[in-house]
Amino acid sequence: MASREGVYIKVLGGGKEVGRLSVLVGRLGEENGILVDAGVNFDEEDKPVFAATHPPRYIRAIILSHAHLDHIGTAPMYYISESPKTYATRPTARMAKLMLEDFLKLNGYYSPYEHYEVKRLLESIEYVRYGQRVDIDGVEAAFYSAGHIPGSMFTVIEIDGVRVGVTGDINTIETKLMKPAQLGLIGKLDVLVTEATYGSSLHPPRYNAEKRLLAIIEDVLDRGGTVLIPAFSIARGQEIMMILAEHDLGVPVYVDGMIRQVTEIFLENSEYINNPHLLRKAYNEFIFVKGWRDRNKAWKKPGIIVASAGMLKGGPSLYYLKRIGGNPRNAVVLVSFQAPGSVGRRLLEEGLMPSSEEPLRARLEWLDFSSHADSNGLLSIIDATRPDKVLVVHSEHDVAEEFASRIKSLWPDVVVDVAENNNEYKYTV
Ligand SMILES: [Zn+2]
Ligand SMILES: [Zn+2]
Repeated sequence: MASREGVYIKVLGGGKEVGRLSVLVGRLGEENGILVDAGVNFDEEDKPVFAATHPPRYIRAIILSHAHLDHIGTAPMYYISESPKTYATRPTARMAKLMLEDFLKLNGYYSPYEHYEVKRLLESIEYVRYGQRVDIDGVEAAFYSAGHIPGSMFTVIEIDGVRVGVTGDINTIETKLMKPAQLGLIGKLDVLVTEATYGSSLHPPRYNAEKRLLAIIEDVLDRGGTVLIPAFSIARGQEIMMILAEHDLGVPVYVDGMIRQVTEIFLENSEYINNPHLLRKAYNEFIFVKGWRDRNKAWKKPGIIVASAGMLKGGPSLYYLKRIGGNPRNAVVLVSFQAPGSVGRRLLEEGLMPSSEEPLRARLEWLDFSSHADSNGLLSIIDATRPDKVLVVHSEHDVAEEFASRIKSLWPDVVVDVAENNNEYKYTV
């Protein structure tokens, strides 16, 4: 059926938007393809916005780059009528179960799939490891660490000799939790599909953010206050725990929310983390909040609380904010991205406590512990893989355009497309 040698990439989500990534990669002229990710985003009212879907009967396999909902939240839809094989690392599969069940608990009303489809997806997963290659009906897929969160993969799909790399979400620097992406192992690509969340900006050196976090903590503890650190339960919470575990801060550290289960998954899959001993130390030394009695105790004496959700959209972090936010001795340190419309963003922009007109009196800080490569990091991926063509996904429109022009100024021969949802990009050789 193929008229010309080459591949197509159909963008089902993640075009000119951060998150909701979903791309179908296939041979030109064929309906069949391999799906990389199928994520969900949330609108300003916190309602789910699913990625578009390709007819499930044409899906040869699904590859899940990592367990964040903006990469997996649409995937169970493919299991309503079919049951394609899914490839993911073990920690991704374990976390996907937690994330999708939690998603249904909060958004079941808006979801076209239910627990049964989540179960079928989880049962269809074949575990893969970094460095492994699999054959999917004559198409080869290979997996490398993307350095973003434990278990995250950079996927290379090879169709008739055309090598297509998909970054998923990627980080190119070392953190306490993660080694950088395995860029040196990938080799030359023909096409690179890259995220560009921070395609037009730079992160300050990680060491500065760590130093600043510790300085704020010391300052607040000296005044007898409590420090609340709202953090995502996947990766950011553990990264903060590891930074704290390196220092003897002399006060109890409480950890609350889904961070605990995720920490246990990381410890059981310790080959996927940079410094398992440090995470183990934090796990052994810190106090995991087990119920309301613990929760009510945690904020009453000077100490540190690491709690989900990272944007204070709910969960224990919101409970603690309401308890400690009225006292200027305390501090709230945001360490995650704060989406427009979230409680965290409102704190930053208006300085008001959630669902009230009361001002926040505690000290408020926002530090950059991003797990995404910045503009320089993203350019280093292109430098390492030398693609002829680049497709920019998982990026706001302006950021994607600016990143595209940075690529063109450094490598004038590289063809760069800024992906649009529901468009198909053809690459012939
Ligand atoms: Zn993402
Ligand atoms: Zn991610």
